[in-house]
Amino acid sequence: MSRCHTPTIVIFAALCFGCATYKPFIGNPIYKDQNGRATCSLHRLPLTKVQGYHIRDKVILDPTVQFEKLSKAYPNCIAISDSLELFGDWNIPKGIQYCQECERLVKSKIQ
Ligand SMILES: [Zn+2]
Repeated sequence: MSRCHTPTIVIFAALCFGCATYKPFIGNPIYKDQNGRATCSLHRLPLTKVQGYHIRDKVILDPTVQFEKLSKAYPNCIAISDSLELFGDWNIPKGIQYCQECERLVKSKIQ
């Protein structure tokens, strides 16, 4: 009996490998700390504010399913429509506010 189930288990494990689940953050992702700084609710770190770039609003972006899940789990990562660097259609100057830890985690988990 166990011989019959072994291939099924192997196939299931192979399908699930790399499809990690990420718990979406629930609630307000940003709060003001006692000094009035915008702070990541998940990591309790003040958000970083930098000059970055934004893509034109008329460009349709189609993020991967993985990025969608990660950006919900780490809600203060840099939005797909924003970039720290000038390149391609991301050429409209814009102030960007993000959590360095959220961004680091998203980048580390993107495959
Ligand atoms: Zn964060």
